[in-house]
Amino acid sequence: MAVPFVEDWDLVQTLGEGAYGEVQLAVNKRTEEAVAVKIVDMKRAADCPENIKKEICINKMLHHASIVKFYGHRREGNIQYLFLEYCSGGELFDRIEPDVGMPEQDAHKFFHQLLAGVEYLHSIGITHRDIKPENLLLDERDKLKISDFGLATVFKHNGRERLLNKMCGTLPYVAPELIKRKEFHAEPVDIWSCGIVLTAMLAGELPWDQPNECCQEYCDWKEKKHYLPPWKKIDSAALAFLTKILTDNPSFRTTIPEIKKDRWYLKTAKKDVKRSRVASGGPPDSAAGFAKHIRSDMDLSPMTNALSEDRIRYSSTQPEPRTALSSWDPSHSCIDTLVQGISFSQPVCPDHMLLNSQLLGTPGTSQNPWHRLVKRLTRFFTKLDADRSYSSLKDVCENMGYTWKRSCANQMTVSTTDRRNNKLIFKVNLVEMDQKILVDFRLSKGDGLEFKRHFLKIKGKLSDIVSSHKNPLPAT
Ligand code: ATP
Repeated sequence: MAVPFVEDWDLVQTLGEGAYGEVQLAVNKRTEEAVAVKIVDMKRAADCPENIKKEICINKMLHHASIVKFYGHRREGNIQYLFLEYCSGGELFDRIEPDVGMPEQDAHKFFHQLLAGVEYLHSIGITHRDIKPENLLLDERDKLKISDFGLATVFKHNGRERLLNKMCGTLPYVAPELIKRKEFHAEPVDIWSCGIVLTAMLAGELPWDQPNECCQEYCDWKEKKHYLPPWKKIDSAALAFLTKILTDNPSFRTTIPEIKKDRWYLKTAKKDVKRSRVASGGPPDSAAGFAKHIRSDMDLSPMTNALSEDRIRYSSTQPEPRTALSSWDPSHSCIDTLVQGISFSQPVCPDHMLLNSQLLGTPGTSQNPWHRLVKRLTRFFTKLDADRSYSSLKDVCENMGYTWKRSCANQMTVSTTDRRNNKLIFKVNLVEMDQKILVDFRLSKGDGLEFKRHFLKIKGKLSDIVSSHKNPLPAT
C-alpha cells in the first residue's frame, strides 16, 4: 500500500502491520516529535467499515496512563489515519523470552500496569476483547500501554450492563465461556486474557491453543496437573493467583477488586514500592499510584450513546472538532498540524526512508538517532555486506523450509506455520547503519511468541555471520 505523509513530518519506519493496514512512525522534521500513525485502508476493511469508526470513537473516550494516547484522526479518500502516542519500547511480547518468560518482578510490574488499564476501561463500560502481548506496548520508560481498540466495545452504560455474544479475540487468549456459551459477561473475559498474558510473562509459553475440552493441555489444567509445563515453571504464590484468574466458570473467576487483595499481587507490590521509592524518590508505581490517574469525572457523554454494538453514528469523513480531543495538550501544536493535515506526497518505500531521513542525517542532533527506532529485540548486526547477508538469510530460510519472497529492495517476506499449525508471516529488513548491516525482523501475522522462537532459530543458524556489535537498543 502506498503511504502518503504530511508536510513537515517524515514517515521513517513501519512499526507494525495489521489486518487492514499498517502502523508507521512519523517524526516531525523540526521538533523531532514522534507519533505513531495507524493507516487503515477502508477498501480492505470493506467487510466491516464500522469497525474502524468504532475504534476511533472508543479511542476518543480513553484517557489513562496505561492506555495509548489518541491524538486524533483524519480521512483522505479511502484511507483513515489514526494518530497515536508513539510507544518506543515496542511490544510486550518482545520482552518475553520463549520458554523462559521474564523476571518475576518485571512480570509483576507489567501486570499491575495492565490491570490498572483494564480496571479503568471497565469503569467506563468498555471491554478490550483482544488483550495479548502484541497489543500491549511499552513507552520509553517501559510503562505498559494497552493498544489496538479495533475489537473493543461498550458493555455498560449508565450502570446498565449488556451481555456479549460475539466470538472475538485470539483463541489462546479467549476465555472458555466465549467458546461454550451464547452469552457472557464482558469483564471476566478480559480478566481471563490478563491471566494468559501473565502466564506467558512468567513461563514464556502459552498454556493451550484454546480453552475447551478437546484441548489436552486445558483438561490437564482443570485437573490441576501443575507438575506439567508451563505451570511447573511458576512459583507457588503466582500459581495460586493464576488459578483464581484461569477459573473455567466465569461466575467463580476472580474479579478486579479481589485481585487487588491477592497475596502475590500485593506481596510483590510492597517490594516494588520500596524499590521505586529508592530508585526515583517519587511516588510508588503501585495500584494505588495508578488509581490517581483514573479520571474521577468519567465522561459518559453523548458519544457513549452512539456506541452500542448496533447503533453507531459517526461523521468520519472530516477531522473531528477540537473539542473531541479532550485530553489535548496545547504543547502538541505540531501533532495538531499533523492531525489537521496540510499536504501529502508519496514516499517510495517508507522502511528505507530511515537512512535518508532528516533525523539521521542532521549533524549534531542532540538525540541519539537509535532511540527513535522502535526498541525491538528481534534484530542483529552481521559481519557481512548487504548482498552476502541477504544470501545467507535466504539459504537459511530455504534450509528451514520457509517460503520466502523479496518484497521490497532489501526486504524479505517469510511465511511458515508455527508449532500449533497456525500461519506465521514475518518481514526481514536489511538496513545499513553505521556501515554495518542490521537484520531487522518484524511480525506481520501470527503469534508473537512463535515469531520470537523462529527468530532465535534463524539467528542460531546464522551465528557465524552475526556480529558481536551490540543491538542498537539492548534490553533494559
Ligand atoms: P491486528 O490486525 O493485529 O489487530 P491492527 O491493524 O489493529 O492489528 P495494531 O495492533 O494497532 O494494528 O498495530 C499493529 C502493530 O503496530 C502493533 O502490534 C505494534 O507493533 C505497532 N504499533 C501499533 N501502535 C503503535 C504505537 N502507538 N507505538 C508503537 N508501535 C505501535
